[in-house]
Amino acid sequence: MSSLRILLVGNGGREHALAWKLSQSPYVESIIAIPGNGGTAGLPKVTNTTAVKPNDYPGLVEFAKKNNINLVVPGPEAPLVDGIEGYFREAGIPVFGPSREAARMEGSKTFSKDFMKKHNIPTAAYENFSDYEKASEYLKTVKHNVVIKATGLAAGKGVILPQTQEEAQQGLKDIMQDKAFGDAGNEVVIEEFLVGDELSILSFCDGTTIKSLPAAQDHKRIGDGDTGLNTGGMGCYAPTKLATPELLARVEREILQPTIDGMRKDGFPFKGCLFTGLMIAPDGTPKVLEYNVRFGDPETQTVLPLLESDLAKIMYACAGPIPYLEDVPVKVSNKFSTTVVVAAPGYPESYPKNIPMQVSAAPQDITIFHAGTKLTGDVLVTDGGRVIAANAVGESLRAAVDKAYEGVKLINFDGMYYRNDIAHRAFRESEASGKLTYAQ
Ligand code: AMP
Repeated sequence: MSSLRILLVGNGGREHALAWKLSQSPYVESIIAIPGNGGTAGLPKVTNTTAVKPNDYPGLVEFAKKNNINLVVPGPEAPLVDGIEGYFREAGIPVFGPSREAARMEGSKTFSKDFMKKHNIPTAAYENFSDYEKASEYLKTVKHNVVIKATGLAAGKGVILPQTQEEAQQGLKDIMQDKAFGDAGNEVVIEEFLVGDELSILSFCDGTTIKSLPAAQDHKRIGDGDTGLNTGGMGCYAPTKLATPELLARVEREILQPTIDGMRKDGFPFKGCLFTGLMIAPDGTPKVLEYNVRFGDPETQTVLPLLESDLAKIMYACAGPIPYLEDVPVKVSNKFSTTVVVAAPGYPESYPKNIPMQVSAAPQDITIFHAGTKLTGDVLVTDGGRVIAANAVGESLRAAVDKAYEGVKLINFDGMYYRNDIAHRAFRESEASGKLTYAQ
């Protein structure tokens, strides 16, 4: 593996965390972030540029050739679903990310459900519909509680969890007739509502081999106690005690390996980061809620600080001309990690931008990851809903949580909002069982 000159596409907290980890690698010579954010701008080896639009794929290839790029890392799902990998494959430049065919696992929920059924991968019972009347009739007949999902990309918003038949019918109409999520709602999945605890697993894949990072738990709702509107994710911790070695072995055996094997057999092998969202039933049975074909946000900011191995080496082993992930260690520390996201006032509804902000220097073990920030001249200002996050690593979950909240105190802007209870489920469960596993 020669020196890597990396093109990183995206501008979120996830991309800051990727650039932060990649820049630590002795194999990495330089990273160009398109467009990057206020955080990537301050990292060694990293340059931000707006010279090319992140969705101008032929333009990106030309730019990459001119700059001798030899590894491309697309952060978000949209370019992958659009087929960015194919543009670079034709130019002979390795991409850490799946082909357009493989990206359908995230780009089309109807497709991924059919894939799971075909390969006997446990998931909620479901039916797919492209006809509104048929879907509406079906809703009248189902006995169990349902979840209705727009098939296409909807920025994490296309999932409805109705409480009553009326809400279900209204939700279906919103998606299929009134096009609340545009063409993403041309088809829907109507599936069984599952009860249990959610966890997210990020795995590196080279098409054949799969190696996972510690299981993480995100906090989707805006309010403390998991109340209020859904968001892109307000905080995260890892590892979660739910993910016992036995459960992880079962998930690997019944879900992760069959997924990778199934994709290869079906002619669209997966390389990149596979993000598997799971629901663990009270009896311990894992089922897939969804696949994403890229790193999660804020999971990435949470698990990369636990990764002791070289991220650039792992990515190249997955994306390079000859895959060799099997030979590359993915070693993680046995510590705990917590991320608290700080949002703009009003998020996830409308919110102001360009609020001046200050961020003080972080002590060791605390890392500030920027998401929606930018530099206007010398002034750092807010530029998005989820603005910035504080991550901390500690010997116990309690230590990691306390340090992450110390990290939040380093951030200051008018109206900043964050949840006060990140990781609350881990502590509540511990207290209920009488075993303070984490909180010692
Ligand atoms: P998805 O984008 O498919 O992961 O769905 C977004 C969120 O909706 C998940 O993180 C879950 O909280 C919830 N959800 C999705 N599917 C189900 C299901 N079958 N049962 C219960 N909750 C679900």
